[in-house]
Amino acid sequence: MSAPMLRLDGLVKRFGGLVAVSGLSLTVEEGTIHALIGPNGAGKSTVFNCISRLYRPSEGRIFLAGEDITELPAHAMAGRGVARSFQNLELFNELTVLENVMLGAHAAHDTSWLARLSPFSRPARERAEALIEQTGLADLRHARANSLDFGRQKMLEVARALAGSPRLLLLDEPAAGLRAREIARLDRMLTDLAAKGLTILLVEHVMQLVMAVSNHITVLSFGQKIAEGTPAEIRANPKVIEAYLGT
Ligand code: ADP
Ligand code: MG
Repeated sequence: MSAPMLRLDGLVKRFGGLVAVSGLSLTVEEGTIHALIGPNGAGKSTVFNCISRLYRPSEGRIFLAGEDITELPAHAMAGRGVARSFQNLELFNELTVLENVMLGAHAAHDTSWLARLSPFSRPARERAEALIEQTGLADLRHARANSLDFGRQKMLEVARALAGSPRLLLLDEPAAGLRAREIARLDRMLTDLAAKGLTILLVEHVMQLVMAVSNHITVLSFGQKIAEGTPAEIRANPKVIEAYLGT
């Protein structure tokens, strides 16, 4: 049996006296969508920051497809096929939609001399165009990122994260601020990507999206896992309703 795409083993992250993540273990199988939910401050973004190596875990190990990546530098992650979107947008505001997506591809392949010579090569451009189409931004490909409304900027973040053909995608609240139609588009897109083999770890408060797309859900509260299971199991779990869904 092959190793899961992602495995956290006893992950702990402390900020001084605050324990933001407290001994979290979880497994994400390849080609599945795994949601991480819980109240604000539960430690969800901190988990992402540990996986993408922006934070150094205080304790515990992180495995990507069986490889221990706990000590790797952040800049090594794109080359290993890990991409993420940020809760707060991290776009190049002055660049166009197309340029933002193409730079996403470039960032992921910065180890190749060929890519460095031709970051705006034809295959890169074709892939970027396809992603722009998929995220509903085709008519806006030459618009500057900061001229888009918030929902479209979020979709652009997703397109940019996908540009490097990752195998693990970390999405931090991609549906926040989106309209119903945009959420439906995101739903279709994530389901489709997972069906093609992409593994997705999704932090999200929009429960309609979480329940529709997730194979598995882990619930965090004050840094601790309080429940995990299928969407149906989570919806019916009294502990989850009390800590999160009931509010
Ligand atoms: P969530 O994404 O679930 O809302 P976060 O992971 O952002 O939660 O935060 C978890 C806890 O860790 C919060 O109490 C937050 O204030 C704290 N925290 C997160 N990042 C830092 C940091 N860089 N320095 C100090 N405290 C932090
Ligand atoms: Mg967060």
